[in-house]
Amino acid sequence: MKKRILLITTGGTIASSLRQEGQGLTPTVNGAGLEALLGPLTLEYQITVRDILSLDSSNIQPEEWRLIARNVAAAFAQKEYDGIVITHGTDTMAYTASILSFMLRHPPIPVVLTGSQLPIIHPLTDAVENLRTALAMASSGTRGVFVAFNRRVILGTRAVKVRTTGFDAFESVNAPYAAMVDGTGLRLNPAAIPPVTGDFFLEDRLCSNVFLLKLTPGLDPMVFEMLGKMQYRGIVIEAFGLGGLHFIRRDLVAKLHAMAQLGITVVVCSQCLYERSDFSIYEAGVKALEQGVLQGFDMTTEAAVTKLMWILGQTNDPEQIRERFSQSIFGEIMV
Ligand code: ASP
Repeated sequence: MKKRILLITTGGTIASSLRQEGQGLTPTVNGAGLEALLGPLTLEYQITVRDILSLDSSNIQPEEWRLIARNVAAAFAQKEYDGIVITHGTDTMAYTASILSFMLRHPPIPVVLTGSQLPIIHPLTDAVENLRTALAMASSGTRGVFVAFNRRVILGTRAVKVRTTGFDAFESVNAPYAAMVDGTGLRLNPAAIPPVTGDFFLEDRLCSNVFLLKLTPGLDPMVFEMLGKMQYRGIVIEAFGLGGLHFIRRDLVAKLHAMAQLGITVVVCSQCLYERSDFSIYEAGVKALEQGVLQGFDMTTEAAVTKLMWILGQTNDPEQIRERFSQSIFGEIMV
């Protein structure tokens, strides 16, 4: 029996072409077009296509995340598919993959995002290879949200785009790959995939008023006041190294206290892509922890930002926020 796959399309380079010379690449190819260009690969599966968006992923925002999540939830309810593949632009795919990992609680079947660095209509495209991996993962019966790229599969919460043009555009950051394609076919790594048990439910409330602040030496602490005035409810700070913020001359730590008073949740993580941050090691980090900030530890920035948006969509209670942020939903934080 062929595996039944729902192919949801949202745009991205994979579906793009030059509509007009000098206007830049824009999504033009729909799902039927993608399927036609996949050639004999489609004979291996029973594919149903659903076009829900046709956007460069720079234009994919919280409203679109919700739309995608709801379409996936509706497909789960149909119980007609063995897996779902979502084509998506690579630029913000890591954000979408993270938020879907949170919104889609206990997905009953695999949900696999993929895209490409070259349009599917380009003779040298990587799209077919990426779709090949995505379709295999979507047929694997592995519950969860994943990104398939360059013959590798990454947990949705661990994918980060690290290259602008290389076909190895995505890495699994601070976690092993969930699967790889080699001479044995799709080789799953069960130890890397958190077990999913329980019934599916959709939790798609979110608060998009979360700001990501990358620290630079000498940053004016007034920036926090500005964010408070702009009604931000959460701030993720990408601080320095293992974990530190400056507190001499320009005292950022004092502002963290003010943020807590305003009911703004602050998460601290590192500008370093790899390995775990820990603000309890240096004085410049301990002082921040004393102000009640939450730690991102080994989370990717994309997962930290979307998780905070998701939690703030559900509660304002500082204790609940702290507790939910520290619990792993789908492998985003090592607990
Ligand atoms: N700008 C494109 C997008 O994210 C890039 C890509 O898909 O590779 O939609």
